[in-house]
Amino acid sequence: MGAWYYVVNISYFVAAIAFIYGLKQMGSPRTAPRGIKWAGAGMGIGVVFTFFHPAIEGAWWNYLLMILAMGIGGIGAWVSGKRVQMTAMPQMVALYNGMGGGAAAAIALVELYSHDAFLHGLAPLVMAVLGALIGAVSFSGSLIAWAKLEGKLDKAFRIPGQQLINIGLLVLILLLGIWTMTSSVSAPVLVTLFFLVSFIFGIVLTIPIGGADMPVVISMYNAFTGLAVAFEGFVIDNPAMIIAGMVVGAAGSLLTWLMASAMNRSLTNVLFAGFGSDDGSEGTAVDGEMKSVEPFDAAASFAYANELIVVPGYGMAVAQAQHKLWEFCQILKNEHNVEVKFAIHPVAGRMPGHMNVLLAEAGVPYDMIYDLEEINPEFPAADAALVIGANDVVNPAAKTDESSPIYGMPILDVVSAQEVYVIKRGRGTGFSGVVNQLFFGDNTRMVFGDAKQVCSDLSTGLKEL
Ligand code: NDP
Repeated sequence: MGAWYYVVNISYFVAAIAFIYGLKQMGSPRTAPRGIKWAGAGMGIGVVFTFFHPAIEGAWWNYLLMILAMGIGGIGAWVSGKRVQMTAMPQMVALYNGMGGGAAAAIALVELYSHDAFLHGLAPLVMAVLGALIGAVSFSGSLIAWAKLEGKLDKAFRIPGQQLINIGLLVLILLLGIWTMTSSVSAPVLVTLFFLVSFIFGIVLTIPIGGADMPVVISMYNAFTGLAVAFEGFVIDNPAMIIAGMVVGAAGSLLTWLMASAMNRSLTNVLFAGFGSDDGSEGTAVDGEMKSVEPFDAAASFAYANELIVVPGYGMAVAQAQHKLWEFCQILKNEHNVEVKFAIHPVAGRMPGHMNVLLAEAGVPYDMIYDLEEINPEFPAADAALVIGANDVVNPAAKTDESSPIYGMPILDVVSAQEVYVIKRGRGTGFSGVVNQLFFGDNTRMVFGDAKQVCSDLSTGLKEL
């Protein structure tokens, strides 16, 4: 083994430390930008030193292929990363995650196509096969998740006999996998078939899952991709891949668990219940009507409040209303002495931390932002709550209506505030498709309009008082 082997492995070790430190920094919005840079630097080190890996045997076209692949991937990622809107971030995560899974599956395929993989005993072979399966499922599943979030695929699309097809495909994958692992030589047709069936399984598994559950599914596939990469790291003896894969696998699994718990759902329920793929007809029908007010009247009520709790949701992100909202809250705070607090539900928006990022971007201080558990006991004492583009996360049916699909999901107790104002454009439902009783309450007033425009009107209203 030449000196380069050790140099490359030490560089992988350094890269792994940068990944882990970067991930730790991402734990808080304050340090997250630094964390991204650390993780990026780790990835850079890993990529650069791979060029010196003794396993890349000299041929110039190997280097050319690597540079070409990096160029295409790098430029594509740079351009899409620059252009992506905050609201389209989950789609982008799904797409990139799918690429990771696909890359891991591709490595597994190359290994399984080559006769070498069959010469080093059962352990690497099992890892290669598992990596191919998990990577392929993550690849196709993430593409379906992307298509659903991007509106390219009908949210309510169902396959008849879904569970039977799932079981059939799983049995087939198991048989093909065992057959591949027990073969003494590479059988390309068998390997290709195994990959194809795994790919189809990812599609079939993901298609019936409702749109509202997609971020949880993406997070699960993220964990899958990590695992697949770690398995392939073992196969090709690459410590950077093993460590990075395990870190992603562990972080993704934790995130999946946290998100599912925040919705009071089990992962099996997310995967097999088809929640959020219906037309919103479930749950008890709601009587009464929504009462609307003009922004000026709402502004007057807020100006005389002692405490206002603001609950942002997906609609604030769509409208990009965070800056105007913060402007309005500053006037309330500074000129009318209103105590303003921001309440964040763990799954408000379309990805974890969505609201925290937007509020931080607008300059809202962290000490004004409260988690669900911290803020819920404060709603009864609040003079007013302002719901801006949030819907499911404030739906009291989650506590009161056992027939509701969102029953059991923890919600922000906006309903118990003395007055509730809701900014949204129309009378429609949120992402889960469930009607919201809160909007019909006696103490609720709807301020219809685009969130950014309404916030601007609220500020004007305050100035005119
Ligand atoms: P919802 O999707 O429930 O509601 C968003 C609301 O915003 C809608 O009622 C919509 O009403 C309104 N809206 C949309 N655009 C605008 C606009 N331009 N101006 C004003 N209002 C607007 O969002 P929530 O944040 O309350 O809930 C998130 C949902 O996503 C939950 O179902 C959650 O389970 C799900 N989810 C989130 C995850 C996460 O990680 N964050 C993970 C998994 C699921 P209208 O069209 O009338 O304007």
